[in-house]
Amino acid sequence: LRDSDSVVENQITVCVRKRPLNDKEVNKREVDVISVPSKDILVVHEPKNKVDLTKYLENQHFRFDYVFDETCSNYIVYKFTARPLVKTIFEGGMATCFAYGQTGSGKTHTMGGEFRGKHQNFNNGIYAYVAQDVFQFLNHTKYKKMDFIVSASFFEIYGKLVFDLLAKKERLKVLEDGRQVVQVVGLTEKVVTKVEDVLDLIQKGSQERTSGQTSANSNSSRSHAVFQIILRRYGSGNKIFGKFSLIDLAGNERGADTFKSNRQTRIEGGDINKSLLALKECIRALGKKGSHCPFRGSKLTQVLRDSFIGENSRTCMIALISPGVASCEHTLNTLRYADRVKEL
Ligand code: ADP
Ligand code: MG
Repeated sequence: LRDSDSVVENQITVCVRKRPLNDKEVNKREVDVISVPSKDILVVHEPKNKVDLTKYLENQHFRFDYVFDETCSNYIVYKFTARPLVKTIFEGGMATCFAYGQTGSGKTHTMGGEFRGKHQNFNNGIYAYVAQDVFQFLNHTKYKKMDFIVSASFFEIYGKLVFDLLAKKERLKVLEDGRQVVQVVGLTEKVVTKVEDVLDLIQKGSQERTSGQTSANSNSSRSHAVFQIILRRYGSGNKIFGKFSLIDLAGNERGADTFKSNRQTRIEGGDINKSLLALKECIRALGKKGSHCPFRGSKLTQVLRDSFIGENSRTCMIALISPGVASCEHTLNTLRYADRVKEL
């Protein structure tokens, strides 16, 4: 996909991003099993054995709204996924963007961005690009006179627990009132007036999320991170006008390898599976009028409830995949999940 390609406007967009092979995979001489023949087709070349043990490749084709190959930058991914949704929140709607995939596939790279190189320059992710465009929109004369107040929050869902990433991981309660309005009680919401304010919060929250962790098998890979940009209007009480929720989901591999894990990870795996299944159903329900959405199926869908209801809700899922042959199974699981989200 190139900058010059046209953007499609959908209520639900589902796409896939393939990352390049990393050094570890190259050193192990892992083969890249993914090809991207066009901007919406992806092929998995899965090595298999016949009964007589001769080897062959099984080619499986998938079609999505967009497929980003390893040459695509975070900016290109942003342009075709979250950017078309920024308008939604200025029209009083709810937007969500999810990063889904196994640990190490590029979810945090895509959403949060990261500090890189010897000068530790910040490589923008989707959080930062959304913030940039929100402030761009605010400068349009059309929106200037609407007196918007912009704020941001950042929290983490770990099993049934919610932690505030802008308040030293303080534990928060989720309450639902009689009218099914869900509230994360005491969640920090910082008013932001420029892009730099938001970058600051992204950096602080991301550090908080990974602090005290040592291995790749860390807590952050087992939790969902939710970054939100909220629009309110002066003098409207505390009512939310529009909200953009950006979610770096827990690694989806947990369910598959629970048999070799201990009791703690098995329980986490169960929670993660449950939330990813509920999420899939909620997104599918968004596309079908009058269908049931199992919000209470997980903390994640419960706190995102207001984003799945209402006429003007739009969502986008980015499935991240690792290209190496060793990840083939997980990759196919990811692609099948993404396929189901899209299927009406
Ligand atoms: P996840 O959050 O899914 O566990 P990460 O985003 O942490 O995965 O990515 C794992 C590693 O791969 C990181 O070192 C990251 O910089 C690198 N990486 C991921 N996606 C890309 C990409 N598209 N291009 C270059 N490096 C990438
Ligand atoms: Mg991550």
